[in-house]
Amino acid sequence: MEALAETQVSQVKHLTSTLRSLHKEISQLELNRMDIGWKVRKSPWDPGSDGYRELKEIRQDIAVKWLEAIKLEKTLARARSSLYSLNKALRTKLTASAMTTTYTTSENKIKEDNIEFMDLLPAIIRHYSSGRKIVFAGTDPGTVVTSTMIPRTLDEIINRFQAISTEGVSNTEATPYSFSVERLPKPNKITANLINNVTFLKSHQKKHQQRQKSNVDGVTQQKKLAKESREREIRTKRAYDKLTAQERRRIRAHAPPYQQALKTFESEHPDTAAATSQLPSGKQTPAVIHCIGHWQGINSTIKGHCRRGMKKIREQHRVYGHVGITNEYNTSKTCPFCFSRVVLHRTRRTIDGRKQVVRLNGTIECVHPRCPARRINHTTRGRDASAAANIALSGASVVLAADCQPLPPFRRDANHTRYNLANELLSVVTPELVPRDSI
Ligand SMILES: [Zn+2]
Repeated sequence: MEALAETQVSQVKHLTSTLRSLHKEISQLELNRMDIGWKVRKSPWDPGSDGYRELKEIRQDIAVKWLEAIKLEKTLARARSSLYSLNKALRTKLTASAMTTTYTTSENKIKEDNIEFMDLLPAIIRHYSSGRKIVFAGTDPGTVVTSTMIPRTLDEIINRFQAISTEGVSNTEATPYSFSVERLPKPNKITANLINNVTFLKSHQKKHQQRQKSNVDGVTQQKKLAKESREREIRTKRAYDKLTAQERRRIRAHAPPYQQALKTFESEHPDTAAATSQLPSGKQTPAVIHCIGHWQGINSTIKGHCRRGMKKIREQHRVYGHVGITNEYNTSKTCPFCFSRVVLHRTRRTIDGRKQVVRLNGTIECVHPRCPARRINHTTRGRDASAAANIALSGASVVLAADCQPLPPFRRDANHTRYNLANELLSVVTPELVPRDSI
């Protein structure tokens, strides 16, 4: 077993070094592509020109190289994962007793509103068959931006599962996947700064400092402090009330009731009105399931930013819908359209007189040549928005799965690559949405 682990280690090392050199090659090619693209854009438009031909060729080259790199990355991930389980098995043999104790403590820590333990499927099926829309709202907690929320309806999410089912059929072609996708909706953001402003945190701090400077006596100071803290408390509550209500309005606007959607559809396509009349009719507001990324950051500061926790937002949403804590694993590193790994968006900067490709934080880019987002020019997206969409997807896949496991890209254990939709769903969801009984 130890020998096996050693060969695995050398394999991982070898793969990492090949991958690194490949990434360097790609980076050089991309620098060239940006140069050529710049030239082509500056000269008058002519599809037959040498520059444009060159640009097309270099784009092809880059696509091939990226496919190679993505394949290598997958092999590397598999190797790493098996190495991890090998090491774990080795360690279990050595310290069997120690493992059991850590296991039980981690078991105790599980909170009751983790999405894996909330049996939401019966409720979803009930809502779905009564014509009520179901929306999964993914929220990505962060530092400066306390939360980024993206709503996704059930139909949108089940459509996304198809991407997995078609993956690996023909991985070598550089043509995009055939299914259609839509741009991510605009995210709803709540920032700590906004809440601090409306609760007068800064101005109260200033007033306090002024009072200390001008030697106001102790009793008055204490009274003022207590009064201000009460005021902040009330204002904070009201701020969260309003902000979460706004978020819910955004979610409802994203998923209009069927009748309203039907009306706009009929006005756009008057000839198909008869065919769509069989759709379930319902006026109710959608059922909302909030999938909130697991992160704790309460009232601590990083580089002068005041963080705010998600607890108050969760409490507010719980009054009107289900709130489930979702595992954030891989959600910020995965493309919500094709499930390949994303990279930080690159751009050109001149550093020390040398042109270089640098990465931009806050923006991600999917580099998979077959990504369906390529056709709608949506490969570059905000990092938080992409993560929020993935959290909605991950949480929804947990709820809709037969075994309460998320989609393979969001799983820590890469050995399981199958995802099974719960059997109860197959009878309710429209058949064309789910092409196979297992994805
Ligand atoms: Zn993609």
